[in-house]
Amino acid sequence: MNILQAQSVRQRTLKNAISYVGRGLHSACRVTMTIKPAEVDHGIVFVRKDVHGVDNRIPARWCNTVDTRLSTVVGNQDDIRVATVEHLMAAIYGCGIDNALIEIDGPEVPIVDGSAEPFVSLFEQTGTVQQDQPRKALRIHRPIRIEDDDKFMILLPSNIPHITVDIDFPNTAIGRQSYSLNLVRKNFQRQIAHARTFGFKQDLETLRARGLARGGSMQNAILVDGDEILNEGGLRSENEFVRHKVLDVVGDFALLGMPIYGHLVAYRPGHALNNRLLHQLMSKPGSWSLTTVDEMNHQPGLIHEPHPSLPTAEDAPELDDARDTKPEADKAATA
Ligand SMILES: [Zn+2]
Repeated sequence: MNILQAQSVRQRTLKNAISYVGRGLHSACRVTMTIKPAEVDHGIVFVRKDVHGVDNRIPARWCNTVDTRLSTVVGNQDDIRVATVEHLMAAIYGCGIDNALIEIDGPEVPIVDGSAEPFVSLFEQTGTVQQDQPRKALRIHRPIRIEDDDKFMILLPSNIPHITVDIDFPNTAIGRQSYSLNLVRKNFQRQIAHARTFGFKQDLETLRARGLARGGSMQNAILVDGDEILNEGGLRSENEFVRHKVLDVVGDFALLGMPIYGHLVAYRPGHALNNRLLHQLMSKPGSWSLTTVDEMNHQPGLIHEPHPSLPTAEDAPELDDARDTKPEADKAATA
């Protein structure tokens, strides 16, 4: 079977509107968020229902990112903002939704359980519908690289959307972890969506003193204290930490508004680096071209020449089938 057959070649939106009430991670503000179907080529747009008299629409686009220090924040020219969009955006991308209007009556997307799974469940319950326009795609032709100290990201040409992330937190319960997957079929839902955000106990007091992480708790984050995981239930999966970093990268790159046909390799990525790569990418129009998912599905060699070091979707149907390249000795630390 063509591994990309399940990728919709047409744009999609939600079948029906869905609502969610919850609190933001940093603001602790209780908000009601309603995600509605939208027409073709609309993209994902936030509307701050609690803001009046100025422009309250914020298209969820990479160029509207206004802060990346603790989460990804999008804003408009009137400085109306929505914070912590990345987990919701990852769920939207992972479920193949191109067009939606997101009404929200506060400054931050609810953190829910710290992962993208609750959003994915809502989208799957209501379902999506195919629309009457092709789904656009961005195809990488030449490598693009950025770095920041020892952190780096490279985007390489590939006929399938691939992602590889490495993280390294020495002397902690996290250690070094690596994860690689094809962003096709239901790989995101199965392997990435459940992974929760995480933080360190020693940082929590500092954040709280600055009025941040006010909505944070072990109900919506993994709390790490040195080589210990403080949450009673432990981890949801092996390498949950790096899976969450993949989730964040997917969410931040969803702000491009279309899938990238390229292999993204990231070493210690963060929201700032993710956004910088998008700026770098868009400033180099000779390195990519606009195409459609349909066009990419018909590329020769698509099925028979995947990247040799990467798994295919066929190989990795279940959560436990992690593509982790961490040495056996380190695994015990995060098991
Ligand atoms: Zn995150």
